Amino acid sequence: MSGRIHTGDELTEDRVLTCDVCIVGSGAGGGVLGLELARRGLDVVMLEEGGYHTRRDFDGDELRAYTELYQEQGNRATADLSVGIFQGRTVGGGTTINWCASFRTPPEILARWRDVHGVKGLDTQALTPHWDWLEERLNIRDWPIERANRNNQILWEGLGKLGYSRGTVKRNVKNCAALGACGLGCPTDAKQSTLVTLIPEAVTLGMRLYSNVSARRLEMAGPRVAAVHADVLDPGTDRPTGKRLTVKAKVTAVCGGAINSAALLLRSGLTGRGQVGKRLYLHPVVVTNARFPERVEAYTGAPLTVYSRQFIDRGPGKLGWLIEVPPILPLLGAVTLSGFGPAHQDLMAGLPHANAVLSICLDGVHGDEGGTVALRGDDPSRLEVNYPLEPFHWEGFREALKVAARIQLAAGAELVLSPHSDPVLIREESDVAKLDDAPYAPLECRVLSAHQMGGCAMGGSPDSSVVDSTLRYWDADNLFVVDGSVFPTALGVNPMETIMGVARWGSQHVAAAVKA
Ligand SMILES: Cc1cc2nc3c(=O)[nH]c(=O)nc-3n(C[C@H](O)[C@H](O)[C@H](O)COP(=O)(O)OP(=O)(O)OC[C@H]3O[C@@H](n4cnc5c(N)ncnc54)[C@H](O)[C@@H]3O)c2cc1C
Ligand code: SF4
Repeated sequence: MSGRIHTGDELTEDRVLTCDVCIVGSGAGGGVLGLELARRGLDVVMLEEGGYHTRRDFDGDELRAYTELYQEQGNRATADLSVGIFQGRTVGGGTTINWCASFRTPPEILARWRDVHGVKGLDTQALTPHWDWLEERLNIRDWPIERANRNNQILWEGLGKLGYSRGTVKRNVKNCAALGACGLGCPTDAKQSTLVTLIPEAVTLGMRLYSNVSARRLEMAGPRVAAVHADVLDPGTDRPTGKRLTVKAKVTAVCGGAINSAALLLRSGLTGRGQVGKRLYLHPVVVTNARFPERVEAYTGAPLTVYSRQFIDRGPGKLGWLIEVPPILPLLGAVTLSGFGPAHQDLMAGLPHANAVLSICLDGVHGDEGGTVALRGDDPSRLEVNYPLEPFHWEGFREALKVAARIQLAAGAELVLSPHSDPVLIREESDVAKLDDAPYAPLECRVLSAHQMGGCAMGGSPDSSVVDSTLRYWDADNLFVVDGSVFPTALGVNPMETIMGVARWGSQHVAAAVKA
C-alpha cells in the first residue's frame, strides 16, 4: 500500500473514504500516532486543516510564517484578549514551528495525574521506552552551553551569578545550522519535526494525509463515531471550497491539539458530561525584555538552549515557573516589546542588543480550574477561549518578573523592561521593587502562551474527565483523543516530548480498538 500527501486543490469533488483509523490533526500527537498505526499495517487517513508547507516555503519571512503556519494567523487570543496564544496550524502542527526544546515529563506531574486525577498505567516506567525510541528517532540530544547563542548565555550567566539551578536543553535536530528560524519553519530540514520524520515514514507505509481539510463534525451512531465530516479549504485563501470529504473509519482519533480538539467534540454534540472544554491550561508566560551594552542578536542561533526550574515549586497555592529565553525575531520582538510610538521605535532600533527572559508558569497543579473552550455562534470555525486570570496568577507573574529582572541585571543588562503597557524601567536592583506597584490586570500586563494543554482531560472518572486511561472518550467505543488536550494539568516543562510519548504509549489502545 502506498500513501500520499494530498492538498486541498486536488479535491475538486466531494469524496467519501473508508479506512481503519481516521486521525484528525498531524502535530505532535497525530504524527506519532499515524506512524505507529501505519507500522502495524493499519489503513490510516489523516486530516490536517493547515497547508502542506515544506522547507522550500520556509523563507524566514515572519509575516508569511505566522499567517500561514499558526492558528488564526498568529492572532489567537482569549476572548478578553488578555492572553495571546501561539499555536501551530500546518502539516506537522506545532512541531513544524516550535523551538525544539525536548523534555521528558517530570515524574511528580505523572504522580499527580495518578494520585489526584485517577490516571492509571501512565508513569515514568511506562513512558521510558517510548521516550528512548523518540530520542533516537528524532535525534534528541543535548545542546551544550558552548554552542548557546548570546541570548541563552545571558540566561546561563545570570542564573549562575545568583546561584540558581540551571541546565542545558535537549533539541530534536540533526545538522542544525543554528539559523534561529525554528518558529518560522526550518529551511534546512534540520529540525526533526513530524513533518520531516514520522509523517513521511507513515506515508511510505501507506498513510493518506489530506492537508487543507478541516474536520467539522463527528457523526455519531449510538456510542460509535460513524463518520468524520470535513470541509475542503482552498490552499490560497484558506476558505472552504464547498467540497466535502467524509471519512468512514473503524476508529477515529482526534489529535487537533488543545483548544481545537475540544472544539471539534463540542461541534459534534459531545460534551463529555460537561467536561469537554474544561480545564484548559496555557502555561501562561510573562516576558521581561532587557537591553545589553553588547550585541546579543537574539534573532540568530539555536533559540532555546538553557533553562531553570529553580522556581517551579513555590509551595502549595503559589504559582511556580520555568525560566527560558525566546528568539527575538523582529516581528515577534515588536509584539512582545512594550510601549508605543517613538519609545517603541527606539526599542526596535535597539533590537540587536535585546535579550528576553520567559517565565513559563505551571498551571493546574494548585486546584486552579484553568480556562475553557466554547463554541461561538454557528460558524464552525469560530471558538471562544476564556482563561480567567486570578490574583493567584498575578502574584506569580509579579514574583517571576522580579526574578527575571534580577537575572538580567546580574548578567549585565543596562535596562530591563517589564511587560506592562506602561513598562516599568529597571536599571539597578533598587528599581526591582517598582514591579510591586505596577498594575496587574488583564491588558495592563501582557501574558502569552505557546503551550496549550487540557480541554479533553484524561482521568479516572467520566464525571471529572473526558477520556479514560486508554485515551478513549468515556461515552464512545471507537473515539480517542491523542494530543496535549488530554493532560489533566500543565507540565512545567515544554510539552512536545510528553505529547509524543503519551501518543506512542496510547497507540496500542487505538490499534486494539480497530480489532474490537
Ligand atoms: C512558537 C512555539 C514554540 C514552541 N516551542 C516548543 C518547544 O521548544 N518545545 C516543546 O516541547 N514545545 C514547544 N511548543 C509547543 C508544542 O509545539 C506543542 O505543545 C505541540 O506541538 C502540541 O501538540 P499537539 O499534538 O497537542 O497539537 P499540534 O502540534 O498543535 O497539532 C494539532 C494539529 O491539528 C490540526 N487541527 C486542529 N483541528 C483540526 C481539525 N478540526 N481538522 C483538521 N486538522 C485540525 C492543527 O492545524 C494542527 O496542525 C511551541 C509552540 C509554539 C507555538
Ligand atoms: S536553528 Fe536549526 S532547527 Fe532551527 S531553523 Fe535553524 S537550522 Fe533549523
